[in-house]
Amino acid sequence: MISKLRYGNSVIKYSIVKSKRRKTSEIRIDENGVEVRTPITKKDSEIQEMINEKKQWIFKKQLEFRDKKKQRNRNLYKNIVTYFGKDIPLKIETGKKDEAIHYSKNQFTVHLKSEHSKKRIQKIYENWLLEKASKYLTNRTKKLAQKTGIKPSQVIVKSLRSRWGSATDEGIINLNSKLLKSPKAVIDYVIIHELCHLKIWNHSQSFWNMVERHCPDYRTHRNWLESDGDTRSSLLN
Ligand SMILES: [Zn+2]
Repeated sequence: MISKLRYGNSVIKYSIVKSKRRKTSEIRIDENGVEVRTPITKKDSEIQEMINEKKQWIFKKQLEFRDKKKQRNRNLYKNIVTYFGKDIPLKIETGKKDEAIHYSKNQFTVHLKSEHSKKRIQKIYENWLLEKASKYLTNRTKKLAQKTGIKPSQVIVKSLRSRWGSATDEGIINLNSKLLKSPKAVIDYVIIHELCHLKIWNHSQSFWNMVERHCPDYRTHRNWLESDGDTRSSLLN
């Protein structure tokens, strides 16, 4: 049995294994997921409570496993950048006069003066991305505002640490520049989500109905963000 628990932008999925022989409960976390082992007498509501109390710890552990996996991938594919949901190779050219980054024909090229440090490339890339994201997300919001008939007073694009977007009661929509690592359909969903918040502030059923009206596949996109989206890390893998 798989159960779910919401934690910020993420969902913690866990399976419950009850056993007659067991006297105490235990939460096990590994790369494959979270498993709760409990005595057969333990009530589901008690298990839920237990998970709820430990959710911060579980989330942290899961991130650690995810980072380890990423690290392995990083060693496998050197210098890959995720952009609009695709993994794009990044070429490094040193001995250039100016530092810059270019994107064309499914390839990133970064120009550096001398031997590169990953941090430096990251910085160049993030600055470039913020500029790209500002244009793309602002234009896209304008289009979707027309389509939905909900107009924000302002769109602000920033590199945010913990969320994809937010809406204020002054009608301002904030969007995370890191959204540009998601597929375009997922980005549209986030924008529509925030636009709908200008009408309905909570996550009630009528809110989700409204989102669904403008974005019928919103569940798929929401799941993508929960499993593949990562606001913490930079786009450079
Ligand atoms: Zn929301």
